Amino acid sequence: MSRNVDCIVLGAGFVGLGAALALQARGRSVVILDRREIAGAETSFGNTGIVQSEAVFPYTFPRDPVEIAVAALNRDPRAQIRFSALPAMAGALWRYFRASAPAPRERSGQALRALVAGAVAEHRALAAAAGAGGLLREGGWIKAFRTPRGQARGLAEAEETRPFGVAYVPLDRDALRALEPNLSDVAIGGVHFADPLTTPDPAALAASYLALFRARGGVLAEGDAARLSQSGDGWRVETPAGPWAAREVVVALGPWSGAFARTLGYNLPFFLKRGYHMHYAPRGNEGLSRPVLDYEKGYVVTPMTRGLRLTTGAEFARLDDAPSSAHLDRLEPFARELYPLAERRDAKPWLGRRPCLPDMLPVIGPAPRHKGLWFDFGHQHLGLTLGPISGRLLADMMTGAAPFADPAPYCLDRFG
Ligand SMILES: Cc1cc2nc3c(=O)[nH]c(=O)nc-3n(C[C@H](O)[C@H](O)[C@H](O)COP(=O)(O)OP(=O)(O)OC[C@H]3O[C@@H](n4cnc5c(N)ncnc54)[C@H](O)[C@@H]3O)c2cc1C
Repeated sequence: MSRNVDCIVLGAGFVGLGAALALQARGRSVVILDRREIAGAETSFGNTGIVQSEAVFPYTFPRDPVEIAVAALNRDPRAQIRFSALPAMAGALWRYFRASAPAPRERSGQALRALVAGAVAEHRALAAAAGAGGLLREGGWIKAFRTPRGQARGLAEAEETRPFGVAYVPLDRDALRALEPNLSDVAIGGVHFADPLTTPDPAALAASYLALFRARGGVLAEGDAARLSQSGDGWRVETPAGPWAAREVVVALGPWSGAFARTLGYNLPFFLKRGYHMHYAPRGNEGLSRPVLDYEKGYVVTPMTRGLRLTTGAEFARLDDAPSSAHLDRLEPFARELYPLAERRDAKPWLGRRPCLPDMLPVIGPAPRHKGLWFDFGHQHLGLTLGPISGRLLADMMTGAAPFADPAPYCLDRFG
């Protein structure tokens, strides 16, 4: 005998949690299915911890031929290419390149902004309800520059976001040092985004959202999304503890969503930007007060509960390619020049996978050929930021409420 709920959410990362909590808030009964019986154990576990309320334009594919050539030779520290993965990724990357042209980039920025603008308020409300306000930290984050050229470029990028209402403060060397006295003189200045929230422990934040979901009557069931099937007017999933049935299903499987959608006949230009993290002990009493991006080298160091967490930029590789320490090993010497890093604290680097679509927008909306099936994935560099607000938009659509933002830019049909 199956247990019945209104909705099964597949995946217990920030995106699945956001969808489940938003559906609950509209009176729906929800079970979250994950292959592990904990929340935020995958990509949502090891990220940089910034609720990026300043984000406007997505990270784009380089357009300058010299920059492309440097990256293609693995000489740009901001990215690492696994050459053996390129044949499988070429189609999606070509579309990413085209979607990075000025006009589509502008469109993606407008669409992203509609979601990002509400992200901080959504997290504040959830964390307060979960009694986890202490896991969201004020103080924003900083982009630090090494050279006048980097500074000019970084400031120009910040200036581009001003019409979207993004507040930022340019920092000269002294102002940077006043905020972060333990950065070395390698940094000549920076930009401070003061409004974003940051978390010292993304996994603990996810656990607190799960506890809230459970306190509101939700269940996290252990099982494999591959055991989902259509049944009568709805859906059914087998789990080791018995089957669950529901009229509606939300796919929020993060990096695994592309392959899962393919099993249902939706062939999307889905690709991954993988990233690693490593924790370091601070040098003596020296630490950081907020995340600081080494702008020209493309990685961030964030003060976390476990130590100073270095998170790398994009590794272009397939889902199951073996982890490699190459990118982290390239970046660590740069990081030691700039930050007060002592010894490594993790036995090996953690690997995560940013789920991406070429226009750097998520898919949020109905699966066109399956009644009661909904998609909520592809949140690229911003899944922590966007999980709860994406859930709100999805819940608006699923319950027939007027969506708070135009859902058209996120629909699946945009890929033809
Ligand atoms: C290095 C790095 C730094 C980042 N920094 C930031 C940041 O500062 N701010 C920000 O907003 N975003 C950041 N991101 C992006 C963000 O972490 C992701 O976009 C986000 O975590 C994706 O969440 P998700 O819920 O979609 O996926 P996940 O967190 O990966 O969750 C997917 C879930 O699906 C489950 N699952 C998969 N397959 C199955 C199956 N067959 N059956 C059942 N369950 C299954 C998994 O167990 C997992 O729990 C960063 C990412 C990386 C890699």
